[in-house]
Amino acid sequence: MTLRELVALAYGNLAMAHYAVTHGDKQYSKTAYMIRAKLTRGLRYGSMAMGSVLADEKLKFHNGAQCSYCGCTEQIVLDHLIPGAAGGRDTGDNLLPACKRCNSSKGSKDFLRWYQARGEFPPLMVLRRYLKVLVITAETAGVMDYPVDSDGVREVPFAIEAIPVTCFPLPDLLRL
Ligand SMILES: [Zn+2]
Repeated sequence: MTLRELVALAYGNLAMAHYAVTHGDKQYSKTAYMIRAKLTRGLRYGSMAMGSVLADEKLKFHNGAQCSYCGCTEQIVLDHLIPGAAGGRDTGDNLLPACKRCNSSKGSKDFLRWYQARGEFPPLMVLRRYLKVLVITAETAGVMDYPVDSDGVREVPFAIEAIPVTCFPLPDLLRL
């Protein structure tokens, strides 16, 4: 499987989950599955693109300053989604508001591994951002069509093997 194929599957499932959660569904509906199929195919064959990071930024203004990880509103700082130590940049797409507690707990750990270690599924909006920053980084490195286990893909500072690709929990267990 190439990185592009993996991202298409993961992003398709993410869109399905996002639809179900925002509609308060208990199960994945036919519409949610259709969204997944359409987006996965479109991303895989290049007829569709992920929404821009800018669209998510606008949403953030509406939500006010709250922690992207736990949702609390106290002692908000800017957290590097991809840690600086791993090569994460100081740019808007890599910075998220986070409370001091989450920020120091996450430290220099990868975002997905940090959640994995606690046995929790990551918030959908942050997972979405993680995949977008991954695509920006992988496109710059020219490795989107490399196999996921190739050296070129291994060099991008993301936990590729920890990306939830197909096994998403039921909507009740997810949050945005
Ligand atoms: Zn927090």
